[in-house]
Amino acid sequence: MAWYNQFMLIFGGIKMIQANFHIHSEYCDGQNTLEEMTKAGIAAGLKSIGFASHMPLPFKNDWTMDEAKLSHYFEEISDLKEKYASSIEIYCGMEIDYFIDRQDISELAKEILPKLDYTIMSIHTIGSTYGNEVSYIDDTREDFARGIKNYYDNQPQQFIEAYYKGIGEMVLRHQPDVLGHIDLIKKYNQENFFFDENDFWYQETVKKCLDTIAETRTRMEINTGANMRVPGVGRYPSDWMIPEMEKRKIQITVGGDSHSVEGIVNEYNEAEMFLLSCGYKEYWMLKKGRWEAQALGV
Ligand SMILES: [Zn+2]
Ligand SMILES: [Zn+2]
Repeated sequence: MAWYNQFMLIFGGIKMIQANFHIHSEYCDGQNTLEEMTKAGIAAGLKSIGFASHMPLPFKNDWTMDEAKLSHYFEEISDLKEKYASSIEIYCGMEIDYFIDRQDISELAKEILPKLDYTIMSIHTIGSTYGNEVSYIDDTREDFARGIKNYYDNQPQQFIEAYYKGIGEMVLRHQPDVLGHIDLIKKYNQENFFFDENDFWYQETVKKCLDTIAETRTRMEINTGANMRVPGVGRYPSDWMIPEMEKRKIQITVGGDSHSVEGIVNEYNEAEMFLLSCGYKEYWMLKKGRWEAQALGV
């Protein structure tokens, strides 16, 4: 009943979250065009959206944008900004990969950065990003397990600690506008397959990472798209982390990680209610080119 909740929020006088800065399209692994996603955003009552196609990677893969399409991407977004200016603000961003083994983003990403209105940075890879032997955190459980076996001595804890250390280095070094899905590593962790989120070492590792993020200007994304891709994953970050973030005064954005028009405001209302219950009073969005705080709830 997502549409009903959205209807009630628009017409029931309650403010709703009006932004989504994590939108994919056919340019990478999304299913719809940029224009279809724009129209879906307008129909859902959004006021400000950002496209965040996956930045091309320096090795073979089938889920990021083709480097040859970059200039089209910028042109098309610029046209859409104009065409829909009276209905919605549109921003041009990209979801940029940070590589743990390189302790860096790609050279191409560095070249493209100045052309973007904003940046999301995330870690999706595990292992060596030289050659074509890399594994992914979020492709399949088998591939994730293979990465842990090949590069981390079959010890999930070793990788997870390296992952959060990598997130900390990434935000300190690059200070992206938004940190994407901080705990993507739980995507295939159903039935605690790799680790237990309640374990002391895990929670301490995350809290240390949150301490680092709190020192930077980077906002954390509340990513509501996980259940659409693997039902039961929940949201990124996990519920227990939100009060820890709030305690550290870490600013947040809300994003659908939308790969289709159906996911444009997936679970937005549930996320808003939960954030309010944790003491968050505002989220951040781009408005007339500047990041501004917006009130959650009424
Ligand atoms: Zn991602
Ligand atoms: Zn994404």
